[in-house]
Amino acid sequence: MSELSGLQIFKYLPGAKKAEHTNCKECGCPTCMAFAIKLAKHQIDIENCPYVPEELKELFLQSSKQPQKTIEIQGIKIGGENVLYRHEKTFINKTVIAVIIDMAKPDWQEKFQRIKNFEITRINQVLKVDLIITRNGQLDGCVSIEDLQNLPLIKITDSNFETTSQELINIRKKAILEKDGNFSNPVYVYFPHTNDTYQLCAKAAYYICKYANMLVFEDFDENIFTALMSLRENIFTDPQKPLQVESKIYEFNNPDENSLIFLTTNFALTFFAVANELESLPVPSYLVVTPADGMSVLTAWSAEKFTAKIVAKTLKKLKLAPKVKNRKIIIPGLLAHMKEELEEEIKNENLDFEIVVGTIDAFAISDFVKNMNN
Ligand code: SF4
Repeated sequence: MSELSGLQIFKYLPGAKKAEHTNCKECGCPTCMAFAIKLAKHQIDIENCPYVPEELKELFLQSSKQPQKTIEIQGIKIGGENVLYRHEKTFINKTVIAVIIDMAKPDWQEKFQRIKNFEITRINQVLKVDLIITRNGQLDGCVSIEDLQNLPLIKITDSNFETTSQELINIRKKAILEKDGNFSNPVYVYFPHTNDTYQLCAKAAYYICKYANMLVFEDFDENIFTALMSLRENIFTDPQKPLQVESKIYEFNNPDENSLIFLTTNFALTFFAVANELESLPVPSYLVVTPADGMSVLTAWSAEKFTAKIVAKTLKKLKLAPKVKNRKIIIPGLLAHMKEELEEEIKNENLDFEIVVGTIDAFAISDFVKNMNN
């Protein structure tokens, strides 16, 4: 049983039945609906309302049971998932990626060093191998294979894809849908040594999606790990929180005080689309990124996260004026209607920037810049 929503809880309260005590506030909330919403988020004790029927108490207890346990090792959390599909809520802990180092093998140090040196950057995050597991020896900062075996984890050794994937799906369904305690431990898939790296990569990618909490590899391959970690970042983003980048001034191709200045919001997809174009321009540029809770430009504007005030204050805060002589800021074409408003507010902050309306699409930036210079 999945967790009860606020609405499902509300149905059992006096407020839904217009019964005695409706919105009596004894629970400390202004209405029964407010109590229901708080209870669904576990922000209030069910006992705060003396009028909760026994039926709801039982249902709530049942639905609140954590379907999958969270196991922690070296500060890394494994498991703790409570949905089958990310869009139902969110996934909680990324699939842990671990590699075994066999210290009885002559080349273990070289492998160890390669793992240590391996890192990739995705959306401002530096990603590395999460866990190194040692066999036939101990290393600082690593976990021994014996430690791993002592953890309450369900181990599946990868063999046949169909069998392994089916087993992963069955275990997760038992844990989430039936809250079956026999399947509540997190699951890891162990990959023995193989020469078929393409197949290894394809299988591991599938198991990240469904439903391995950890992958343990005998082999280490930088290319495969880059692909798997990139995929993992996509699967484990919280659909309720848009991906965002830091609000700051980004520089492309060593800009100086006369370089072009572009401006956009901190929605990661917009940022990377614009940043890619600016990187490939034949001229250097700045990109001012405003804080907008990770919303794209039009969404931010309609949610009042991209207002003239916010833009002007951001320019001031990021100290753009002392950095450049150029006084023209190119804004996204979708916000053309804000030109006058922006210039007015910029003036109010004692800044003297002029607003130039740029392109609607990032791909058109290059032509726009060419025309600007003609
Ligand atoms: Fe509603 Fe119970 Fe709160 Fe009264 S105490 S407002 S009945 S939830």
